[in-house]
Amino acid sequence: MNQPDASANLCPLCGNDNQCAIAAGREPETCWCWSANLDPVARERAADTADQQCICAHCGRLDPEERSDEG
Ligand SMILES: [Zn+2]
Repeated sequence: MNQPDASANLCPLCGNDNQCAIAAGREPETCWCWSANLDPVARERAADTADQQCICAHCGRLDPEERSDEG
């Protein structure tokens, strides 16, 4: 009962590969999220599954063009 959860490497928001280094069994320091500027809104939306699934670079990236409706 020690097999890794297959969904751990999928983004909970869009279902695509989140390219998480931890899910792939690599050092956390090598994960893209260490150097990325994560969108706090995306982090909040993924908070329910944050301990099981990381969000992908596409959903986590802070994109000014997609936040134009803010405010
Ligand atoms: Zn995603």
